[in-house]
Formats: sequence, structure tokens, C-alpha cells
Amino acid sequence: MNSIQQNIEQITSQIEAIQKKCGRPRDSVQLLAVSKTKPVEAILEAANAGQVAFGENYVQEGADKVAYFNDHYPNLPLEWHFIGPIQSNKSRHVAGNFDWVHTVDRDKIAQRLNDQRPEGLPPIQVLIQVNTSGESSKSGTSDSDIFELAALISSLPNLTLRGLMSIPANVSDYQSQLVAFKQLAELKDKLAARYPELNLDTLSMGMSGDMQAAIEAGSTMVRIGTAIFGARDYSNKN
Ligand SMILES: *Cc1c(COP(=O)(O)O)cnc(C)c1O
Repeated sequence: MNSIQQNIEQITSQIEAIQKKCGRPRDSVQLLAVSKTKPVEAILEAANAGQVAFGENYVQEGADKVAYFNDHYPNLPLEWHFIGPIQSNKSRHVAGNFDWVHTVDRDKIAQRLNDQRPEGLPPIQVLIQVNTSGESSKSGTSDSDIFELAALISSLPNLTLRGLMSIPANVSDYQSQLVAFKQLAELKDKLAARYPELNLDTLSMGMSGDMQAAIEAGSTMVRIGTAIFGARDYSNKN
């Protein structure tokens, strides 16, 4: 089995190769290491290999890990991204612990994150989660609500809107993956045209199974869990 460091090196060179093949500049795609369900030892190994950005899905688990690293490794320059669904009664812990939130999908959550951001911390970097597949089972706003939500977020001082995020339907066919990702990229372009004063530079899309299509469609941040840390064990969840 490869080490976490070897996996990160492998993914990084895959990202570079895909960027090159698609004619995109070097370093235009950031790697977000999705560490949900994984122990702090695994995160430390990745951090020692140079990984900076980590994604967590569960509020309490993520908050505990942030606290652990603040206590034990205050000099590691880690960046914490919240990428799971947000219930409003848990928003305070998201606002208090995370640098980025990818899953803002409604006004109420945006308002709460703004109001609950502790004083002295920089604004939360925010992505609007978009439901590009049109499946009602997944959370995410519809296209028509996005412009309004973007207007609200950009008016809130403790939030900085950076772009869009999606989790498309899990399909293995490359063309179908590409269509869904291009939809999100077009939506971000429309949003940027409507709000030229915002610096919308981020498209969070692509996971272990569909990274190539996401990068071809313009992803700037791929969220990779399994390919770095191995398969997840959910037996202690729920
Ligand atoms: C778990 C998760 C990932 C990582 O998925 P892998 O298939 O393990 O790479 C990415 N994004 C979100 C939102 C996730 O919940």
C-alpha cells in the first residue's frame, strides 16, 4: 500500500498532467484533502508532506480536529474547509472553526455564519453549493436562487463570496460528468458577469472518481479523499 505522502505526490502529478493536457496553467487547480472519518495522525502525515487545505464534513469531528491542531501544532499553516451539510443549530461551530465553507445553500445559513463568526477572525471564504443534477435528494440551491443568495452573501461583512461548489450525480461516463461540471462553470461565469466587483475565482468540483472531467471543465479546487487516505470506515457514524 502507498503511504499518504506517495498518494499526495501521485494525485499532484495527475492534476499537473490533466492541467497540461487541457491547456490550463500550472497550479491553477488546488488540492483539497478530504479527511472526514480519518484520524489526526493521517492529517499530520499529509501536512508533513506539504498539504495545507483539509476538508471535513461533520461539524463536531471537524471542530475537534481544528482544536487538536491549534493546541498541538499551532505553527502548521493549515486551512480548514467545511464541505458537509449545515444544520442551522450547528452553524456556530462551523463559523468558529473553519476558514472556508463550501456548502452555503440558503439565506438563513449565510446570515447565521456571518453573525456567529467570532470577532478578530478574518471573513469566512464562502462557496454557494449548487445542485447541478437537479436531484431533489441532494442539498444545494436551484440556479434561480443563486443570484439572490450571492447578493446577500456579498452584503455580509464576515463572509467573502469566492465561487460555487457542486456534488454532481455519481456517474462513471466521462461525457455526462463533463456536462454537469460545465453547467457549474457557466453558472459561475454568469454570476461573475452580474457581480463584476466580486472576486469569484473558485470552482470547487471534482472528487476521486471524476477529477479529470472537473479539471477539463474549469475546476480550481478538487476535493479528494479516498485517493489520498484510502477507503473510509463509517461504522462509527450514525
Ligand atoms: C467525501 C467527499 C469528498 C471526497 O470524496 P472521495 O470520493 O473520497 O474523493 C469530496 N467532496 C465531498 C463534498 C465529500 O463529502
